[in-house]
Amino acid sequence: MPWVVGGYHGPTMSDSLHGPGQTACWECLHDHRAEQADMRLPPETTLESLAPQLPRHPVNIISATPTGTLLTHFALATLTGAPPIEPGFRYDVNLVRLDASAPDRITSRPDCPACGSSP
Ligand SMILES: [Zn+2]
Repeated sequence: MPWVVGGYHGPTMSDSLHGPGQTACWECLHDHRAEQADMRLPPETTLESLAPQLPRHPVNIISATPTGTLLTHFALATLTGAPPIEPGFRYDVNLVRLDASAPDRITSRPDCPACGSSP
C-alpha cells in the first residue's frame, strides 16, 4: 500500500510519498533519517542538549498548513492518479532558506531486511 509521511522540523517542512516495491520502505526511511541526523556527537550528548530549549514547539499555522497540505496532496494524487507523482522522493522546504530546498530520492537499502535485494 502506498504511504505518505511528513512533518515540520523547524525551519524545514518535509513530506514524502512512498510506494511498495518501488521505493524505500519504512525501515529504509528510518535508517536514512538516522544517518542524516548523525552529527557524530560525543556519547551522552544529544542534539537537544546543544540547542536552546523553547517552552513550546516552534510550529505554527504558517508552517503546519503547507506541510499538511502537501502531504494531503500526495495522498489524494496517489488515490486518484491525478496528477501522477513519482514516489520515492522526500520534499524538504526550508522556510528560512528556500534556495536550499531540493527533492531527495530515498532508495531501498540492499541490506534492508524488509525490502532489500541482498539475501
Ligand atoms: Zn527497506
